[in-house]
Amino acid sequence: MMDVLAVLAGVLAGERRAVGRAISMVEALGPEGREIVRGLHPHAGHAERVGLTGAPGVGKSTLASALVRTLRDDGRTVGVVSVDPTSPFTRGAVLGDRIRLNEHFVDRGVFIRSMATRGHAGGLAEATADAVLVLDAAGYDIVLVETVGAGQTEVVVSQLVVTVALVLMPGGGDAIQAIKAGLMEIPDVLVVNKADRPGADLMRAELEGALGLVSWEGGWRPPIVSTRALDGEGVGELAAAIARHRAHLADDGALEARRRDGLARQLRSLALDRFGRRVDEVLEAGFVEGLVDEVLAGRLDPASAVDEVVERADRPARSGS
Ligand code: GDP
Repeated sequence: MMDVLAVLAGVLAGERRAVGRAISMVEALGPEGREIVRGLHPHAGHAERVGLTGAPGVGKSTLASALVRTLRDDGRTVGVVSVDPTSPFTRGAVLGDRIRLNEHFVDRGVFIRSMATRGHAGGLAEATADAVLVLDAAGYDIVLVETVGAGQTEVVVSQLVVTVALVLMPGGGDAIQAIKAGLMEIPDVLVVNKADRPGADLMRAELEGALGLVSWEGGWRPPIVSTRALDGEGVGELAAAIARHRAHLADDGALEARRRDGLARQLRSLALDRFGRRVDEVLEAGFVEGLVDEVLAGRLDPASAVDEVVERADRPARSGS
């Protein structure tokens, strides 16, 4: 208990080691993590939360790193949560990025943390939400959440942040098809990274075309920003577009509504996630074999078998699950 209190005090004092400990605690999804979340929640809500999503390889991590540098030059402090298993933040800096990332790792105004995506039997979404809350409460001006695009991860970044920037690269036409088909939540900012590569202009034009088909609620038309994450070209524009989106929501009085909506969706998806893990626990405990035997033998109908699983899963959870 004392440990948790010390960590809470450390996080609120902005101590990096305490921030790291707190995130490890919430990642474990146990009772200590719950204490951390309960204790920090009243202090959170001040950070500007930004999501960076996109397919693996489009340059999210490189772009995050460049964005951190731009924001730091602007005097802002930044926390980064990376949920991308292919990200250099997760891999440990790859050679080319080592110097740049190290530069951030020694900067006290930056905290970079990758979520352990392996060995998580579910719960990644909740752990990520809680890690964002820790960085928010620790007082970072901006919390950046980097994650692979929707559908490939159980972490729905739009529930956690106010502004979502979708990162694409020349040739990555799948996302455009998804937007056209209405299969993808429309991001707030579109980024064509690797603008040094052939096809970047064509990609922009295709995006303009796709966006032309969508009707805009609230008068915000997602800007398209071209970037070269490797040399930082366009990253200032990206930071400006993100800031403009936030200002637009604030002027509109929509910032609160956006937060409410995100939270409501988050509560639903995390509750489903928790319940799903409970069902898995019940089934893993060998319970399913008995039920299957009963159904196959004709002594139990399938619907009643489901009733039994739901009832069992619905019993008060063991500590922390
Ligand atoms: P992530 O998987 O989306 O996080 O992508 P990474 O940041 O790991 O980048 C994937 C590869 O693209 C790396 O080899 C980067 O060096 C490279 N890359 C990132 N940004 C650019 C860019 O603007 N131009 C070019 N040519 N390559 C880039």
